[in-house]
Amino acid sequence: HSASSSNFLRAIIESDNEKGTYQRPGMPKVITRFPPEPNGYLHIGHAKSICLNFGLARDYDGRCHLRFDDTNPTKEDQEFVDTIKDSVQWLGFSWEQGGTDYLHYASDYFDTLYLMAEYLIEAGHAYVDSQTPEEIARNRGSFSEPGKNSPYRDRPAAESLDLFRRMKAGEFPDGSYVLRAKIDMASPNMNMRDPVIYRIRHAHHHRTGDKWNIYPMYDYTHPISDALENITHSICTLEFQDHRPFYDWILERLSETITLPDGRVIGGFLQKPLPHQYEFARLNLTYTITSKRKLLQLVEEKIVDGWDDPRMPTIVGIRRRGYTPESIQLFCERIGVAKADGWIDVGTLEGSLRDDLDPKAPRATAVLHPVKLVIDNFPEHLQEECTSPVHPHYPERGLRRFPITKELWIEREDFMIDPVKGYFRLFPGNRVRLRYGYVVECTGYDVDEAGNVTAVHCNYFPDSKSGTEGSTAYKVKGNIHWVSREHAVEAEVRLYDRLFADPAPDANNKDFRLALNPHSKEVVRAYLEPGLAAAQPGDIYQFERHGYFVADIKDSQPGQPVFNRAVTLRDSWGK
Ligand code: ATP
Ligand code: MG
Ligand code: MG
Repeated sequence: HSASSSNFLRAIIESDNEKGTYQRPGMPKVITRFPPEPNGYLHIGHAKSICLNFGLARDYDGRCHLRFDDTNPTKEDQEFVDTIKDSVQWLGFSWEQGGTDYLHYASDYFDTLYLMAEYLIEAGHAYVDSQTPEEIARNRGSFSEPGKNSPYRDRPAAESLDLFRRMKAGEFPDGSYVLRAKIDMASPNMNMRDPVIYRIRHAHHHRTGDKWNIYPMYDYTHPISDALENITHSICTLEFQDHRPFYDWILERLSETITLPDGRVIGGFLQKPLPHQYEFARLNLTYTITSKRKLLQLVEEKIVDGWDDPRMPTIVGIRRRGYTPESIQLFCERIGVAKADGWIDVGTLEGSLRDDLDPKAPRATAVLHPVKLVIDNFPEHLQEECTSPVHPHYPERGLRRFPITKELWIEREDFMIDPVKGYFRLFPGNRVRLRYGYVVECTGYDVDEAGNVTAVHCNYFPDSKSGTEGSTAYKVKGNIHWVSREHAVEAEVRLYDRLFADPAPDANNKDFRLALNPHSKEVVRAYLEPGLAAAQPGDIYQFERHGYFVADIKDSQPGQPVFNRAVTLRDSWGK
């Protein structure tokens, strides 16, 4: 891999491999996981985590699990499970290896997690607290002040066990009891002040149905799920740094055994080596928001056209926009992995798409803001075939063919009545080359009552056709694109731009709706070169001079594509 992809996580893995930290029979030395909560759509930030976890597994002959962190029954749904699986696969990764699907759900571990919790009670590491949620919050203390022990902290294990079993049986209402780890109410780390590990929730779960009346907390479930799946390097974002001591504490407790007064030996649920948690900086992208809550707001308030609106940073959105899996992987490689938070310019993402598409995308002609060009000296019914390469750098990809006729469509901005300084395109008396066609000289124009130009007139030079000997005699500075009026495919084209005009749309809790870019979507009726009638949904082209465009995967019809602008040819933002 390239130098840019070397990072501190690779250094840790390489050192572990050297030391043989995770030398276990029949198991790879690197097992990572991507653990989404199925409560929304994945976005570009998740893509960073996916590329990181699956990428490390790939590069070190390991494997990466997809695990749904589904411990929060009220917010989760099968619909999200399906779209998340789809997005991971679309990005080019697989949780399948050697015929085994490493697709897991935290809810698959609910029975085991429960047994472990009973053990923790018996071992004196957990207790049922009868304080109200308010009392628990109050007695937790603050950063400057130690917490206070719960009056129930030292209740006998047998009493906690009985209450815990009755919590499970559904005897108590939500919020009446919790199970807490018994650690240290004076710890400077708030997460170590007897964190809650189980709560009562009389809620239906999308996979376990109504089986459970209690649900384990994320901080309890996550490390144990990692250990049960033999994860080696558990990679998460920086905000979990303060949770790491509990991650280690719980795994240590569950790998010990204890001897009870009656002589029974219990415990030993987990074997060493245990997984380790490492934190990296989450992706913050300029001109973008990635908070699930705020993205939901954009959808609900109909500021965008749904989760897969091409302006959304969701995977389903950027896919519709024309982003390729390779461009996202390239982006993630370029931005690397850091240990401290920072901002990545969205231009880096757009640049990755351009760099991925430039060698791939066939070229095509599209007139987005059309005005008619009439070649007055062109014979009425003549059709002259013109050709141009599908890709200028790869002649082996062949030629596109399209006719030139008396009436054409050209871009409105390629004509000026009174040219500004340095303008080399059409104006009365000036000559330009019609790309891949003839040199023409502008002779005049028509206007309507309002003064709008309705047609531009010119004459052509029959011996000036591109690729012919005579053409070299014509030296012109302007070179404009066009399509035959008779042969053009009329199509809806959506000119998307950044959704926000402000580089930090939701900084300091300001209202991101005030930062919207009013020009983030312009819909035009465009004229395309005839061959584009055959474009299939998802096909990507470079429209010469305009940018990269994808045939929309949702709205294109056979013979009638709808195009989305993925990105312009150059970064002209703010210029
Ligand atoms: P929630 O608010 O629901 O917790 P979340 O963005 O953390 O939202 P998860 O489904 O928990 O969503 O995320 C799955 C994984 O993706 C986690 O490991 C998380 O660290 C990672 N992740 C989420 N957002 C980003 C981001 N902006 N950059 C990098 N990784 C991210
Ligand atoms: Mg989360
Ligand atoms: Mg989160």
